[in-house]
Amino acid sequence: MDTYKKTMGIFSLRNRILLFAVLVTLVPSFGMGRLFYLMAYRATADMTEQKLKASVDRVGYTVGLWLKERHHDLHIFASSFIISNNLTQYYAQVGKGGGATSLKRIVAYLNLIKSQYIDYDSLVLLDAEGKVIAASDSFGADHPLSLPADWKRQIQTFDRFVGAASSPEGGPAPVIVIGIPLPAGPAVPPCLLAMEVSPEALKPLLKTVLVDMEGGIGEILFVQEDGRLMLTVAQPEGGKVMLLEPGRKTQLLAKPYKMQKFLGEDRTVGLAVWFKDFPWGCLIARDYDTAFAGVMQLQDQITLAAILFSLVIGVCASIVAGQIILPLKTLTRGVLRVGSGELDVSLPVRRNDEFGIVTGMFNQMVIRLKKNQCELEQLATTDSLTGLVNRKQIMTVLNTHIEQYRRYASEFSLLMIDIDHFKVINDSHGHLVGDQVLSRIGQIFRHVLRTMDVAGRYGGEEFMIILGKTDSEEAMATAERIRQAVEAYPFMNEDLRISVTISIGVVEILGKEDTEASLIGRADNALYEAKAQGRNRAVLGGPASRIVS
Ligand code: GH3
Ligand code: MG
Ligand code: MG
Repeated sequence: MDTYKKTMGIFSLRNRILLFAVLVTLVPSFGMGRLFYLMAYRATADMTEQKLKASVDRVGYTVGLWLKERHHDLHIFASSFIISNNLTQYYAQVGKGGGATSLKRIVAYLNLIKSQYIDYDSLVLLDAEGKVIAASDSFGADHPLSLPADWKRQIQTFDRFVGAASSPEGGPAPVIVIGIPLPAGPAVPPCLLAMEVSPEALKPLLKTVLVDMEGGIGEILFVQEDGRLMLTVAQPEGGKVMLLEPGRKTQLLAKPYKMQKFLGEDRTVGLAVWFKDFPWGCLIARDYDTAFAGVMQLQDQITLAAILFSLVIGVCASIVAGQIILPLKTLTRGVLRVGSGELDVSLPVRRNDEFGIVTGMFNQMVIRLKKNQCELEQLATTDSLTGLVNRKQIMTVLNTHIEQYRRYASEFSLLMIDIDHFKVINDSHGHLVGDQVLSRIGQIFRHVLRTMDVAGRYGGEEFMIILGKTDSEEAMATAERIRQAVEAYPFMNEDLRISVTISIGVVEILGKEDTEASLIGRADNALYEAKAQGRNRAVLGGPASRIVS
């Protein structure tokens, strides 16, 4: 039993099957799940990058279009007769100290345009060296004109220029400077017409890009070539606004057109680009959690699915383990019972599988074992020649009867029998015939006696018979029946009849002080008395002694 209990701990067969089943489920589920997740993550990252690229392309396109419109406006303004006529007059008179009236007319014209186009901060007429000739009244109020460093190259290449008017940190808001060259006339040197516009004018256009972006949460930053911030547009304005730290800006601009993830407190994905057609950089960023919401949901679903799978498989494994372990337990208990000597064991065979076969075989083995044990017991208690119980067994039976008498006052009688002149039979007919006589006498005893009586071979040609629930009188009657049966039996050796008689000593248990020895002693005395009185008779031993012949 101890060995059996030892197998029932946490390392029991059931737990091991359970652990195996859960591992077998968890490992592939999580492995496959992880693979799916990585594939989905890669796909989402690629898609997000494509969307961010599309957004910056759209920003570039929108800003390019906007600039083109501004250049177009400048061309229209410059094509005015007021500009060309007054410039001609100005250059004709400036050498002679005049030209102030012409300039005043130009300034009035620039003020008129400014008043009609409220988006424009100022309009400026410049000479070929970028020196201001005339400007609208709004010009120079809070900052000097700042042409882009390469404005001449831009004019040569694009026939226009664009730049951001840098302003020191904390200074006035930056402005965008846009300009075109004016065609030189016969008496007029080449000049430039430029406008200053607040970058804020781009905000509504850029907002539409953000609004159209999936999830609607994003941020666009415009930076100048020196990295300084020119414009920030965020969507939604009142909601969560991502703040790309200066460090992030540098990281993004260092790898243009490549999406980067920042999973610190900001949790942002971003992408930067330097525009070819104008001297600005653009950073676009969006909320990481919104962009990767689907993947994160998938991860949760995969975890949930793996746990559910494991639970289901765990329950199934538990049931299967139970189906294996329960019959195994029954079988083990059966084996332990048989091991401890119990042979009345028969296990129920409820299944047709291997367990059913093993249980059936076990039952058969127990039956065979029991049969063998019975045979062995019989061999150990039976006298092989006569078929009666042997001396050891008849003594056991006698003691049992004595015990029962003492306990329940269940009386009994004992017959001690000896074959008369058996030596003569042996000597006359041989030992084999003698043996046959002994065997036949055994049969006669069995035939005459009741089932509750026990006859045993006490030794050589002596027998002991115990008659249950029998007093001396009945015992004497039985002894007489036996004697007569033996005497009447036709013992033969070939054609010769052999005369066989027996002498019997009969005793009844007389009291609780009677013992095995006293009973046998009295029976022996009675037998001796029977012999002495001439044999072939029964003599009752004890206080009342009687002879029957
Ligand atoms: P009595 O009437 O006085 O009993 O005479 P008896 O010849 O029977 O006396 P005794 O007890 O001296 O002889 C018993 C004989 O039984 C002696 C022995 O050789 C024989 N005998 C004992 N056991 C066996 C046996 O198993 N087979 C055979 N054939 N003979 C046996
Ligand atoms: Mg004898
Ligand atoms: Mg004898």
